[in-house]
Amino acid sequence: MAKKGRVFSGARPTGRQHLGNYLGAIQNYVDLQKEYDCVYCIVDVHALTTVETTQELQQNTFEMALDWLAAGIRPDESILFVQSHVPEVMELHTYLSMVTPLGKLTDLPTFKEKIRQQPENVNYGLLGYPVLMTADIVLYKTDIVPVGIDQAPHIEFARETVRSFNYRFGTKALIEPDVKHTEVKKVVGIDGKDKMSKSLNNHIELALTAEETTKRVREMVTDPARMRKTDPGNPDICNVFTMHKIFSEKEEVDMINTECRKAGIGCVDCKLRFAGNLNKHLEPFRAKRADFASRPAEVQEILVDGGKRARAIAQDVMKEVRAAMKLP
Ligand code: SF4
Repeated sequence: MAKKGRVFSGARPTGRQHLGNYLGAIQNYVDLQKEYDCVYCIVDVHALTTVETTQELQQNTFEMALDWLAAGIRPDESILFVQSHVPEVMELHTYLSMVTPLGKLTDLPTFKEKIRQQPENVNYGLLGYPVLMTADIVLYKTDIVPVGIDQAPHIEFARETVRSFNYRFGTKALIEPDVKHTEVKKVVGIDGKDKMSKSLNNHIELALTAEETTKRVREMVTDPARMRKTDPGNPDICNVFTMHKIFSEKEEVDMINTECRKAGIGCVDCKLRFAGNLNKHLEPFRAKRADFASRPAEVQEILVDGGKRARAIAQDVMKEVRAAMKLP
């Protein structure tokens, strides 16, 4: 079946992925492969804007690649690569920066947010982040970028930058990417209140063993008003129930929904049921991950090969870009 176009998406190398990454992005990446040519990038250069030491960068990149591959990113069909393997992105970033008004960058809410988060390290990379992101997208002749509603302004920035570049140099070398709005599930962490994240240590890593996963699930905060097993609970405000709705069969979800409200099921039992279903769901993932992890050289080879394929596209685009700019 002919594919509908090319999709690009990138994510920072955050190491082992967790359930929030899986439900919020990775599953979507896997699904998109059915209809689109997909280019998935581990953006290690972007990570340099915030990391203090690069000691773990390579390991984090490798661990993330393992998770993506195990989850179903197919390197024979899609391009899976590491951003720094294609140095042309840095060149395009520089050219695009020449058509980007400074005020537009300083006004972006994400930049202001970063200044708040790391006032001791407000580097140029933070400011130029959207320009590098635009270069990432357009360097691979991307038609579509899958984003959640909250990221849409970034893609609008990319589209405007492409228009400015093409207009200034009288070219059509760069393609304006379209947005594919995806429903990004907000996955709440085991604390029951904040978005699941490694930095808050409220996450469940996909690569945990079944026992470790169960232990983590047992730590999940439930309906805070339910103090004893004999108290009726409210599944509508319970994160364990939200997870059941994703990983459990309908009959079990319905049963919990009914029984919890009349104290017919205890939270420990409810959590163990969820842990069992989650472990069952992740079983094939874990087997695949262990298999890839036992062949690290092949995983590196997949990334190197992906980089070569991505670079071939990038070099074509850069030829057109330089020609339009009258550069050698
Ligand atoms: Fe939540 Fe389940 Fe406890 Fe009800 S029984 S409060 S759904 S963990």
